[in-house]
Amino acid sequence: MNQRRTSTRKRTRIKAVGLLSGGLDSTLAAKLMLEQKIEVYAINFTSPFCTCTPKKAGCASVVTAVKELGGIPLTRVALGNEYLEIVRNPKHGYGSEMNPCIDCRIIKVRKAGEYMRDIGASFLFTGEVLGQRPMSQRRAVLKLIDRESGFEGSIVRPLSARLLPPAIPEKEGWLERERLLGFRSRSRKPQMALAVKYGIVDYPCPAGGCLLTDPGFARRMKDLMTYSELTVNDTELLKVGRHFRLMPQAKLVVGRNKEENERLLGLAKRDDICFSPIEVKGPIGIGRGNLNREHVQKSVGIMARYCDGGTHGKVKITNRRLPNGKPHVISTMPMQEDNVAEFRI
Ligand code: SF4
Repeated sequence: MNQRRTSTRKRTRIKAVGLLSGGLDSTLAAKLMLEQKIEVYAINFTSPFCTCTPKKAGCASVVTAVKELGGIPLTRVALGNEYLEIVRNPKHGYGSEMNPCIDCRIIKVRKAGEYMRDIGASFLFTGEVLGQRPMSQRRAVLKLIDRESGFEGSIVRPLSARLLPPAIPEKEGWLERERLLGFRSRSRKPQMALAVKYGIVDYPCPAGGCLLTDPGFARRMKDLMTYSELTVNDTELLKVGRHFRLMPQAKLVVGRNKEENERLLGLAKRDDICFSPIEVKGPIGIGRGNLNREHVQKSVGIMARYCDGGTHGKVKITNRRLPNGKPHVISTMPMQEDNVAEFRI
């Protein structure tokens, strides 16, 4: 029987799609698949809440992982509005902050499954480890993710497979179950030992990567969802600067350095109000929403607080409505720190 299966596999290599985050677990899962002569295709998802950008570590770690895996094909998928809808209204609720982990896994597995069908692959695999994450990696939840993704039976978790019911690839003999693993723990020691075996030394911290688990970011998200639409632009804005809620319908974002000032200008939209100091160095501010005269006055007071010399004397701040509004200059004393704190989100 085994001989027949082996010869079948020699004729046609089985293709599988692996969800590759760039972290250690998914890289190890892919290694285990390659060891069993599976032809691996990686799929990597990003969302507006990834801490990575094309220039920063998260995305680079996927490229590193692909190299570790011998240059397997990689497809990247950016999740946008569809993902925001999940964050706004997750069917299975939030984790410790604003992280809808179960719904997040379902949409990613579903999309990976669609890709699997498109390229004629036979199954999916992930780097999930039973018991590692309290919300999304419990046995019952893994089952639920399989069912609601629409690919139940076609998903293998190579690092914990021996503790889970056999999936179709094991039943069909495409994978030898005894060569899969039985990890179950919040400890990462077994994965680290396996990384040593495979000579993998460069992998990112497993906790990083998702802003939705960050308490400060989650607070800003809740504020945004309370008072306005959740759009990709507003979500991007949450990643930049200090945020102040002036009134339910108006907020101010103030850059913390040159890079953030430039980022704010790049994210500013028509009808936003752009604040900038004159005669002294200081940040760029973007007012968004229905700012009336009183909100503008508060905004310049907050802006003045962060300008050079802004803790004592008056500061001149211009404000103009984008894109072509006439600039107005207001000379103001900085707002007192206690008052600034009242508006900080
Ligand atoms: S931590 Fe973030 S990226 Fe990871 S499963 Fe949860 S919501 Fe998704």
